[in-house]
Amino acid sequence: MQTIGFIGLGIMGKPMSKNLIKAGYPLVVHDKNREPVREAAAAGAQEASSSREVAEKSQVVITMLPNSPDVREAALGKDGIVEGARPGLIYIDMSSIAPQAAQEVASGLAEKGARMLDAPVSGGEPGAVAGTLAIMVGGDEKLFEEVRPILQVMGKSVERVGDIGAGNTTKLANQIMVAVNIAGLSEALVLGSKAGVDPERIFEAVRGGLAGSNCLNAKAPLIMERKFDPGFRIRLHIKDLANALETGRNIGVPLPLTSLVMEFMQALRVAGDEEKDHGALVRFFERLAAIEVKKSN
Ligand code: NAD
Repeated sequence: MQTIGFIGLGIMGKPMSKNLIKAGYPLVVHDKNREPVREAAAAGAQEASSSREVAEKSQVVITMLPNSPDVREAALGKDGIVEGARPGLIYIDMSSIAPQAAQEVASGLAEKGARMLDAPVSGGEPGAVAGTLAIMVGGDEKLFEEVRPILQVMGKSVERVGDIGAGNTTKLANQIMVAVNIAGLSEALVLGSKAGVDPERIFEAVRGGLAGSNCLNAKAPLIMERKFDPGFRIRLHIKDLANALETGRNIGVPLPLTSLVMEFMQALRVAGDEEKDHGALVRFFERLAAIEVKKSN
């Protein structure tokens, strides 16, 4: 089995790497934060102290990092993957970053003969733990087929959507849909609550109809239980919407709904909620209406 290097053992990377170990892949791991590295070592992975060392010791390198600058640093920076890369190295970035950044990193690594896919995911921490993520892949088709078995360990739906960068374009589309969906269901539940209807009854009544959605099923119960631990942090969703807005500006696509929800999220950041789950978007609407969405008992 190919040795896999895994860089970035945060909320998502930790369970994803654990699933690769469980599937029998030899793993070499690195994170700026040493605690999850030690934890992965206890589960059977080999520790590395830089991205360069990970690349030197692996045939396939995966990164799961916050944003474009982090991926640029890990891939092309000092002691980065590029310094340990040799021809034939496969690099899969599974972080959600700007599509243009993915293309730039791919070009930088191609100079060393390394091939790259961008493969961001959806499904959150529960999907990462269960190995049921939706993975959207951009890059060469043959390369995609080569690494499909690795991706299938982490994801249930693994789709190639186009060339390098297309994975992240698809992820931006995904993040717009999720943000607007959560904003809509939040506004609706606040209205229902202030009108005196139990939000749980509203949820049960509408979830089977056209308003039903994976977003509603995932977020409404957490909102009603007042559980806002991440999950997917507001801070990261702001990052994704910023990448969407920048991409829209670059290619000439106004994104009015995205900019609106972006401002709601900025207000949450100011209120100190940016490390909370994006379900906490409901708090923006709750503050406007001076009410909380809670079960009646
Ligand atoms: P996180 O902040 O929990 O984890 C990121 C990890 O990367 C941290 O452990 C950090 O120490 C490490 N790191 C950062 N820069 C590094 C570097 N240069 N070298 C080595 N390690 C470095 O973030 P997360 O929630 O796991 O998200 C990771 C990516 O996945 C993000 O792009 C996010 O948008 C995306 N994503 C997250 C979720 C979710 O629900 N959390 C869902 C889908 C996609």
